[in-house]
Amino acid sequence: MKSGWVDRDAEAIVADGAKAGLDRDLALRIYTTRLLGSDPKLVLHGGGNTSLKTRMRDRFGEEVDVLRVKSSGADMACIEASGLPAVRLSPMRKLRALDAIEDDELVGIERANLIDPTSSNPSVEMMLHAFLPHKFVDHTHATAVLSVIDQPEAKELCRDVFGGRLAFVPYLRPGFGLAKRAIEIFERAPNCDGLILSKHGIVTFGDCAREAYDRMIAMVSLAEDFIARNRKSVTMGVAPGEAKKAAETIVETAARVAPIARGACSQKHDTIEGAWRRLVLEFRSGDAVLNFVNRSDLQRVSQAGVITPDHTIRTKNWPLVLTVPQSGRLADFASVTRQESQAFSKHYRQYFERNNKRVGGNKIELDPLPRVVLVPGLGLFGLGRSKADAIIAADIAEEWAKGVSDAEAIGTFESISEAEMFDCEYWPLEQAKLGRRTDLPLAGQIAAITGAAGVIGAATASAFAAAGAEVALLDLDRTAARERANAIGGYALALACDVTDASSVSAAFDKIAEHFGGVDIVVSNAGAAWQGRIGEVDEEILQKSFELNFYGHQRVAQAAVKIMRAQGTGGCLLFNISKQAVNPGSSFGPYGIPKAAALALMRQYALDYGVDGIRANAVNADRIRSGLLTPDMIASRSKARGLSEKDYMSGNLLGREVAAEDVAQAFLHHALALKTTADVTTVDGGNIAAAMR
Ligand SMILES: [Zn+2]
Repeated sequence: MKSGWVDRDAEAIVADGAKAGLDRDLALRIYTTRLLGSDPKLVLHGGGNTSLKTRMRDRFGEEVDVLRVKSSGADMACIEASGLPAVRLSPMRKLRALDAIEDDELVGIERANLIDPTSSNPSVEMMLHAFLPHKFVDHTHATAVLSVIDQPEAKELCRDVFGGRLAFVPYLRPGFGLAKRAIEIFERAPNCDGLILSKHGIVTFGDCAREAYDRMIAMVSLAEDFIARNRKSVTMGVAPGEAKKAAETIVETAARVAPIARGACSQKHDTIEGAWRRLVLEFRSGDAVLNFVNRSDLQRVSQAGVITPDHTIRTKNWPLVLTVPQSGRLADFASVTRQESQAFSKHYRQYFERNNKRVGGNKIELDPLPRVVLVPGLGLFGLGRSKADAIIAADIAEEWAKGVSDAEAIGTFESISEAEMFDCEYWPLEQAKLGRRTDLPLAGQIAAITGAAGVIGAATASAFAAAGAEVALLDLDRTAARERANAIGGYALALACDVTDASSVSAAFDKIAEHFGGVDIVVSNAGAAWQGRIGEVDEEILQKSFELNFYGHQRVAQAAVKIMRAQGTGGCLLFNISKQAVNPGSSFGPYGIPKAAALALMRQYALDYGVDGIRANAVNADRIRSGLLTPDMIASRSKARGLSEKDYMSGNLLGREVAAEDVAQAFLHHALALKTTADVTTVDGGNIAAAMR
């Protein structure tokens, strides 16, 4: 592993820091923390931590010794000074005299000794940093080190690999107990360059930022070199027969497999009929992942546990392992997948009950759904309540697969015990890293919106994203869809889609399924208006309008229903039908007639797929400023009627102008109304001729 230290970059951070009032030590602490944090081989998503012992003035102007330590769950890759809260060092060190301390009390004492009382909580591994005497302390969960230490004979192996430069600390759950044990062991080997925390990670230290960092890189390099030299065989553990079988079988695509896996890994709500707890997926299929999922001993190695304890809050302790999804045999795959997923949840519940009883029965069970799914022949999925969480689970799963593979290449992978994993998974301080989240109403759901670059489409995509859904914005104009998606932020996906072309629609829905894992809500919104007196209009115009305003909805709904049925968790089809569908305007036949057919289409979907839990509803909106009602049209129509533009736009029973956001809220209402199907919601400020009956 190469050092990332560049003198010029280090000095630039020091110079920038000086302008912001940060001293050299703190600036370099930030620099090497970022270096460590930006390499996934060392640290992933909030794991790992660093510290600096220095002096600073407190609120009363008195200079005191402080420990600046990474705050809990903060991302090292983009750390700022505020991510290294300062705690008075001497009271922390006095705690060493205690035999034990409750978590709540420890956090309380830490907080009471913060120099800035508004800082976030210091890392759960803070006490280890406080007890060690060194100015700079770095701690990572380097994958190569884990491959060496997640072994039955780790202690002996470490002596060989690290040449006695690291003292060996047996496994204890991170926290006060581990910190006390670690300092005792350090004091017996005070000349070491760092510590191995068995089954957990590595600590290096030094008098300056560079020394602690260089030692980390040197030690991780020793682990990497050892693995490279001692690999039993490149294909160790992969029985040639099995790898060949996976390679020879024609495997289904991720787009076809994901909805099946996602549906199987959803949970019916306990009390609300029709509601599901759903997860979003992230797919990975790099060479290392494929080598791992195609191992003949996948069952054994995949169920052996995590490579470092804090991964458990993101990936759970074990992944769900599926079978090879053979092409043409998806129905068999789906039924086995559901059984495997149910077995996973049952196993998780038993694990919880067994261990909760052991610790006194006061823990609250987390959902029993997998966070990593391995699919031989295809790759792996990370799962989460949001796309962001799914990506984190997938990133960790990838490093885990590499770590376990390398551990097996030089020996036998061994994790911490089930009880130890449970104690981490259900440790309140670990769970606190995830933050206190109250789920938004559409959390875990995936919504696709057509015509999403238009005014109503964009407002709808924004409303759904604000309600917690992951959104896919489909439009003829991909650039415009991209701009709308960027404005929404997060993981909003922009896709080119021509709803008049069946292959374009099916390609777009394949991409949604591959990207997010499936789809739960579709807002079929794309449309355009044509005019002409119906007795004289060119048939070509009528056909064009039917292609877009009727068949477009049909193609979108059909593609969505295929995915929804593969998931088996219901779904919601929403159609934008105009008031023309109900209350035709003169010379608007070419627009209104296919829209009336789309209204019938919605009812047919409600009728045919209610049995699958798929709801179909429509919104009947009128007079919205949009691509179909441009400022020029508003000007000419209001003039023709002798009205001001304002009176024209609010010419309805309520006398209120209707906005795209009002239509978006109507779609959102339908997405949430689990007992409503075949319904039309009118959003027009009141037009009795267009009222539904
Ligand atoms: Zn750690």
